[in-house]
Amino acid sequence: MKFVNFFVLMLLIISCKQTETQPAAEQEATKPVSEKPPIGIVIHGGAGTILKENMTAEQEAAYKEKLEEAVTAGYKVLEEGGESLDAVIAAIQVMEESPLFNAGIGAVFTHEGKNELDASIMNGKDLNAGAVSGISRVKSPIQLARTVMEKSEHVMLSGTGAEAFAQEQGLEMVDPDYFYTERRMESLKRAIEREKVELDHDGQAAFYDPFIKNSKYGTVGCVALDKNGNLAAGTSTGGMTNKRYNRIGDAPIIGAGTYANNVSCAVSSTGWGEYFIRGVVAYDIAAKMEYQKIPLQQASKEVIQDKLTAMGGTGGIIAIDKSGEISMEFNTPGMYRASIDSEGQLNIGIYEK
Ligand code: ASP
Repeated sequence: MKFVNFFVLMLLIISCKQTETQPAAEQEATKPVSEKPPIGIVIHGGAGTILKENMTAEQEAAYKEKLEEAVTAGYKVLEEGGESLDAVIAAIQVMEESPLFNAGIGAVFTHEGKNELDASIMNGKDLNAGAVSGISRVKSPIQLARTVMEKSEHVMLSGTGAEAFAQEQGLEMVDPDYFYTERRMESLKRAIEREKVELDHDGQAAFYDPFIKNSKYGTVGCVALDKNGNLAAGTSTGGMTNKRYNRIGDAPIIGAGTYANNVSCAVSSTGWGEYFIRGVVAYDIAAKMEYQKIPLQQASKEVIQDKLTAMGGTGGIIAIDKSGEISMEFNTPGMYRASIDSEGQLNIGIYEK
């Protein structure tokens, strides 16, 4: 028996020695042949009080179908070797063109019954970024954000100036009515009605809880990782129903609604924008990863479930890191979301996990 043990031990020692002394070239050859670099994409179509009991089977199917179409459009770009920025644009444009979401067509209305759109995009490779706010005449706000990033020396343009720049750059311009939908007009009317009875102690009109807490935000966003390890994030929105005074939310604010850095992750937010700005939500997740060296999912969870919730904010984020790890974190009853991971696995969700 002892002799057998000794024999096994000797065999082990010999085989270890052989691996140690194996020439580098041979060791290379025994590695699994060319592991493909990871690619991945995640989208959201807004968070909020999205409950199964309030949704018909047709509505649910329509959302799922559009989410799949959007995420697939972006993934196709990545699969064909394209850049994460192009994937983000492709996915977001599908949602901007759908009346289901609060971005592009289907954007919510301001108190005065106008559509004022906001968008931003960020490139994780060089930390370049572009953003626009309060625009009403540019067909694709996310495309304008990208044009600001690439064709101007600025990061953020607003209102008529941003529109003049879009026109100069040859972007497709539309009549403001292009964004109009009956459904969003009805939401505005309801919000104004409700506001009449929800005045605060000084008789000021309410643009806050409980109306906002029970609303569906509907902003759209996308984060992507391409085969060169480049991350990108983008967000596009109509803001919040019944907004006034040229209110600007988090969606066009780099670091709050959108952030991407190749050393950590790419993030897009949706929710009650004021809290996302104050909590610098998107950047906070990336900073936690970079400085505290914690994984993406832990960083997102801490920022959304602990910090944002403690502040009283509601909403969620989607994020992807340089290894293709995905996070979809929210503290609302639902968030429209979809992803295709590095294995090519499609995942679509609406309600809580
Ligand atoms: N975050 C957006 C805003 O505050 C709203 C949304 O997510 O739908 O403007």
